[in-house]
Amino acid sequence: ERRVAIIGCGQLAQMMAQEGRSLGITFSFVALGEESTVCVQDLGEVVRVGDSPDAGSLYRELGCPEVITTEREDVPPGLLRALQEFCPVYPQADAVEKTQHRLREKLALLESGVPVAPFLPAENYHDVCAAIGYLGYPAFIKACESGYDGKNQWRVDSVAQLEQLRDELAPGSYVVEKGVPFSREVSIVGVRSASGETRSYPLTENRHENGTLLVSRAPAADGNGELETAQRYLATLLDDWDYVGVLTMECFVTRSGILVNELAPRVHNSGHWTLAGAPVSQFANHLRAILGMPLGDTTCAQPAAMVNMLGVDTIPRTPNEGVWLYGKRRRPGRKLGHVIMLDESTESLDRRVEEVLAELYTSDTPERSANA
Ligand code: ATP
Ligand code: MG
Ligand code: MG
Repeated sequence: ERRVAIIGCGQLAQMMAQEGRSLGITFSFVALGEESTVCVQDLGEVVRVGDSPDAGSLYRELGCPEVITTEREDVPPGLLRALQEFCPVYPQADAVEKTQHRLREKLALLESGVPVAPFLPAENYHDVCAAIGYLGYPAFIKACESGYDGKNQWRVDSVAQLEQLRDELAPGSYVVEKGVPFSREVSIVGVRSASGETRSYPLTENRHENGTLLVSRAPAADGNGELETAQRYLATLLDDWDYVGVLTMECFVTRSGILVNELAPRVHNSGHWTLAGAPVSQFANHLRAILGMPLGDTTCAQPAAMVNMLGVDTIPRTPNEGVWLYGKRRRPGRKLGHVIMLDESTESLDRRVEEVLAELYTSDTPERSANA
């Protein structure tokens, strides 16, 4: 029996555990603070920890796992380092720490020769104004820490909008980014095993709404060698960081090439289509990587699409490969599940995506953008 402990109890932990069953893995989970455990309640032991848990007793309560991994980005690096005394922790604390802070992340990307949008650091409203004076409009102001699904960030298109932030923007660490005139948003899920083997899934095209992912489609149209470029950037990062596990890279496609928006040191929503669209899913490959097993096939035989169920849990009638429901309570905008579709042609796949969207988001459903 192989035992893996996952820090975090959301749907990513759930799907990892479901996918791990066929690999003969037993799971235990760490619930941080008040986080809900409904997604993983039937999948293994859950240990809830407070602010500064004792790593030794936590390791034992988790059943002395062979390896510990994470499904969330906000895990204290100190906890990961303390647990590392007892068994390998993947991804490593250093990688998690870099990606938790947007400025550190951008500097690490540049250090590996990976291009990002022009940006400047800022500590307060005054700095932000100076940065935008230099970068121009539109600009994105992003808190360095604790941002996801478009939270803790502001798009600013005019002086008037900037002035509205004068009182809202508390002093802290920010990055101000130039608004990128992208034609498409894409992401790539890559994986590197403890033995150094590296693979990546096809480039995925993403459609967001109000900062939250709504639709992913793979493979993304590859107009200008974007796939090869993205694969090269990701492989460089995986090797430079000596990374183990799945690492996801979100990118903007612009006329002059790819710019990297951000990284996620974990399995990613834009990779959920691999559950039905690839021979081995991102979840299974993450587990293979951290357990030092040979990595599985990451190709997709036919176009795949994933539609997020944001605040809705209606089962669509449009033909699909499956509906994944996470078992969470319904709340406006909350990620409750997703639908995956496969098709021989991109055109008919796209038509079905629109049908599913129309079925899920009827006019009487609450706004999918109201995040919770
Ligand atoms: P996630 O849920 O993916 O972690 P996040 O809160 O970390 O999201 P970002 O990915 O940085 O936020 O930004 C959210 C979205 O806002 C992007 O996917 C993109 O659509 C838009 N956006 C962010 N930065 C820029 C930029 N510099 N130029 C243009 N659009 C941007
Ligand atoms: Mg993010
Ligand atoms: Mg993002």
